[in-house]
Amino acid sequence: MLQTLSIRTRSRNESRDVTAEVEHVVRASGVTSGICYLYVPHTTAGVAINEHADPDVMADVEQALRGLVPHNAGYQHAEGNADAHIKAVMVGASQSVPIENGRLALGTWQGIFFCEFDGPRERKLRVKIMAG
Ligand code: ZN
Repeated sequence: MLQTLSIRTRSRNESRDVTAEVEHVVRASGVTSGICYLYVPHTTAGVAINEHADPDVMADVEQALRGLVPHNAGYQHAEGNADAHIKAVMVGASQSVPIENGRLALGTWQGIFFCEFDGPRERKLRVKIMAG
């Protein structure tokens, strides 16, 4: 089962908590044991798993990435968004989460974040549910 979530991001850099939406797809699939595979089909966005109890954590991650990869730093890519491509490589385009008892088997403090690095844009997050 494959479902595509549409995400309209609101700013250039944004970490959107999509845990509830992904959990909904898992529940709707009826799969009780398996893998939830998440894939971002974009070159300037990514998907991460980290703490969602305290929103300051992902704000700190965003700030650290901005510090590591400045917006303008003499990049060759002429589109003007080289920093977004670099951050997308660092975060990665996919994640996998186990499904146990019909739910995402995330850790107590973990959430799933769609990471925008060149917004605002219309984005997609592909969610593939595999039983097993
Ligand atoms: Zn580009």
